[in-house]
Amino acid sequence: MSRAMNRIIVNKDLCIGCQICFKACFIDIIKWDKENRKPIIKYPEECVQCGFCELNCPKGAIKVEPDYDAYVFPREHICDM
Ligand code: SF4
Ligand code: SF4
Repeated sequence: MSRAMNRIIVNKDLCIGCQICFKACFIDIIKWDKENRKPIIKYPEECVQCGFCELNCPKGAIKVEPDYDAYVFPREHICDM
């Protein structure tokens, strides 16, 4: 299976710097840029697509786009029914 290339996209114009996404991400994909008060997406390939960051953002400023191609189950592992 290839390495997932998930995308977590932050619209910095909409972001109000509340840190909710940063605190919501329990596996530390999202780091915090103290100087600019914006989230930094550090390890998108490790994202588990839980959606907590996106669902909790009060401004709709963060979107998670899973790399669906990376999660296609290999055909050879599918049993004949
Ligand atoms: S939750 Fe939304 S508004 Fe708050 S810091 Fe994250 S992206 Fe910005
Ligand atoms: S979807 Fe979940 S794992 Fe991925 S960045 Fe958002 S909070 Fe973190």
